[in-house]
Amino acid sequence: MNIAMQCCSLMVLIVIMYLYLSCKKVFLNSEFAFFNLLCSTVLCVFMDIISIVMMSKYDYFGRGIVNGVAKFYLITVVYVAVCCLMYIISNVYDKGDKLKISRLAVYGCFAIVCIGICVAPIEFVSDGKVVYSKGLSLYVSYVFLCIFTLHSAALLAKYSRVLNKDRVKVMSLWIILWIAVCVVQAFYKKQLIVSFAITLGMLVVYIRLENPESALDRETGLFNQNTFGPYVSQRFRNGERFSLIMVTFDDFNKAPVSGTIRCKKEIINLFKDIPNTFAFKTNENDIYILYKHSEEAEKMFEILRRRFILYGDKEFRPYISYMPYSAITDNIDDMLHMFRQANRSNEMLEHHYIIIDKAFRDRMMEVQRIEKMVNDAIENNRIEVYYQPIYSTEKHIFTSAEALVRIRDDKGKIIPPATFIEIAELNGTILKLGEIIFDNVCTFIETSDVLQYGLEYIEVNLSVVQCEHEDLAKEFIEIMRKHNISGETINLEITETATLASKKKLIANMIALRNYGVGFSLDDFGTGQSNLNYIVDMPVDIVKFDKEMTTAYFESTKAKYVMDAAMHMIHGMKLDIVSEGVETAEQLDTMEELGIQYIQGYYFSKPLSQNEYLEFIHKNNKDYYEQHNKQ
Ligand code: C2E
Ligand code: CA
Ligand code: CA
Repeated sequence: MNIAMQCCSLMVLIVIMYLYLSCKKVFLNSEFAFFNLLCSTVLCVFMDIISIVMMSKYDYFGRGIVNGVAKFYLITVVYVAVCCLMYIISNVYDKGDKLKISRLAVYGCFAIVCIGICVAPIEFVSDGKVVYSKGLSLYVSYVFLCIFTLHSAALLAKYSRVLNKDRVKVMSLWIILWIAVCVVQAFYKKQLIVSFAITLGMLVVYIRLENPESALDRETGLFNQNTFGPYVSQRFRNGERFSLIMVTFDDFNKAPVSGTIRCKKEIINLFKDIPNTFAFKTNENDIYILYKHSEEAEKMFEILRRRFILYGDKEFRPYISYMPYSAITDNIDDMLHMFRQANRSNEMLEHHYIIIDKAFRDRMMEVQRIEKMVNDAIENNRIEVYYQPIYSTEKHIFTSAEALVRIRDDKGKIIPPATFIEIAELNGTILKLGEIIFDNVCTFIETSDVLQYGLEYIEVNLSVVQCEHEDLAKEFIEIMRKHNISGETINLEITETATLASKKKLIANMIALRNYGVGFSLDDFGTGQSNLNYIVDMPVDIVKFDKEMTTAYFESTKAKYVMDAAMHMIHGMKLDIVSEGVETAEQLDTMEELGIQYIQGYYFSKPLSQNEYLEFIHKNNKDYYEQHNKQ
């Protein structure tokens, strides 16, 4: 009797089992399958030892018992092959239904094998040193062992492309070992190497694929990215709901690194070992904590919000996103997309926390719809520019117009800029859009006769994102050159905003464009954002009084004083004023009396399509045309 090899194998397996169980894990489907495989291997090796011992003491134990034990051992060998197949299945079909059906089919087959092994006869051979079994029972187990193993090999080959390469390699090795065992055992019955081979296979799978340490982040002890994705995906697939809190640290903020580290540590310690939760750290250094129950998640979110956002040190404020109900989506990709969008949102930047709920999802979907609409419109040439005439109170004709963008959607409906400008600014599309608008305006000036009708320049709105774009001046000058129009025919409208990050770039762009002859207006004066300092700082020629200010002038004495004073100063600086939003004759008269040079508003006209605008100017500036063409 030689059972040394089997005993060593058993010891190795017990060590693997201990290491595996002593480490925390989330229990993915594939981890369950591995655990089954490990248990079946331990059982198989254990039964190998028992059956050899009993076969060698055949007379002592009696034929019936030894037969039963030997057959049970054969069943455990086949069961290891079944678990190996299930392990591969759980890796390839991670989808609920397919997994269930395959599981049923394999276990059904296995039940038949068990009956076959039990019913078929078995014999024992002993040559003094080695004891082994033979007979039909053994052949039945061999045949099915081969069938299960070949099935595993076929599955692996079929899905080798979608599976992780490392997994394919290790599992192939395991299958090759099995096939080698089958061949050796078939020809050399005395070589009892099954236990050794399966233990070796187990060791390789454990070290390379299932070592729970590899699922943990070394620095924090939290689960890492390798676990986060598969675990969350599995919960979605199984329809298991959860709540998720994500904490992220702005790596670029000005806070001292030591403070950020301290804050991070405190949060990690808070997240560690809370029952019924799993905490993860991703490759992007974001920390997620997953709760099975939303009430507990809610409590933690409140704790975090109070401790770190409301009453914490202002310098080390993390950003916290909280998704109370996973049911707002059904897959991890959409969920992560929502977290990314949430992180970038203005709400997050302002408050340092955000709740990702149904309303957030709906808003995000609306944003996506609009982004798509803008991109479609760009691709299909559906960006249109409307022109709103601007009246000169000195020359009594329409000397300029403001270019206002519109999108024609795929059904032909006109979409106003309020719907899409902010979104295009956030995702950067405004640069492309701005270029198209500018090109459109230049084409209009080049190809129409508006200059002969007394039009001096067209006002084009610039978004703050465009102002900060390094190549803005270069690109705009190129467009003007392409259309052969002079810089004097363009006036760019800039707005004062708190979000302007680089005033330097804006000024550089303004200087380059001014040198080309382009003029500038300061838009939206009189709204919350503007102040007089800005006019002093910026090289502008015109200040545009916002509609709010024009209206307020007639409604409140205070506003009247403010406007009078502002007007006095602006005129003192030798700048012109455009009054926007003039809707009535009374408003027009007052503005004219005040000495405001330009009037824009519905009183004269709403923004008009290019052709309507041409008609408008042909009709209203006719005298100018006739006078100047006679000369
Ligand atoms: P804005 O630059 O202040 O443009 C004036 C807005 O006031 C226009 O709205 C115009 O139609 C409206 N308006 C003009 N006169 C009156 C009036 O008498 N009464 C009323 N109630 N409204 C009047 P619109 O065309 O919807 O544009 C809205 C905003 O969208 C613009 O405000 C501007 O900030 C932005 N925008 C429009 N076109 C462009 C563009 O080409 N580029 C960029 N970056 N922004 C644009
Ligand atoms: Ca404007
Ligand atoms: Ca304005």
